[in-house]
Amino acid sequence: MREQLQLLMKLQTIDLRVSELEKLKDEPSSKISQLEATLLEKEKDIEHIKKQFEESTKKKIKKEKDLDVELEKIKASEKRMMEAKTNKEYEAFLKEIAFAKELNLDAEEEIIEYMNEIEEISKKIVQLEANCTNLAKNFKKEKVKLKSDSIKYGKEMKSFILKRKDIVNAIKADLFEQYNIIREKRLGIAVVNVTNGICQGCHLNILPQLYNDVQKCEDLIVCPHCLRILYWSNNQ
Ligand SMILES: [Zn+2]
Repeated sequence: MREQLQLLMKLQTIDLRVSELEKLKDEPSSKISQLEATLLEKEKDIEHIKKQFEESTKKKIKKEKDLDVELEKIKASEKRMMEAKTNKEYEAFLKEIAFAKELNLDAEEEIIEYMNEIEEISKKIVQLEANCTNLAKNFKKEKVKLKSDSIKYGKEMKSFILKRKDIVNAIKADLFEQYNIIREKRLGIAVVNVTNGICQGCHLNILPQLYNDVQKCEDLIVCPHCLRILYWSNNQ
């Protein structure tokens, strides 16, 4: 029985590692998708801010064109003012020109505001693009590492599965079945050590007689509390 239990212990170690490796093997691909999503988000931010840049530039150009038209109008009015025939006519032109110049001052201020805005946006674009380039560079490195990790875990899993086959072949069929039933119910832990009369699965005491029997290792003994298979090793 001791030899069978030792095999079960070995099998359990492998099974635990295999289920851990199954998770580890899938982790890299989910991390890669996360990184890809982050990068895509940053690229979208850049696109968005570039659109803002275009819009502000368009607005500024339109304002400048409008201002040019207004300046031309003022020039024309000034010319016509010189040709005014009466004082009243002259003063009317003077008023009109003063009003137009005032409006142009507002337009000039708006153009300056647009220029400042465009400058700020340009700075932001440079910064965001640098960040994005950096991120993409790191992401590339990380991706290589994650892929090699995934391959490494896959290889380890394969070698364990091969080892597992030999061990399973050496375990008696009914014992193997019992191991599987308990394992499923007890989160993968079906065989546990007993140390100083305490089950290491549920950490409860077992009766001294039962502890003796476990140490003798003649029969299969399960913990009366957690129903796991008990094992006692003389090198503990
Ligand atoms: Zn127990």
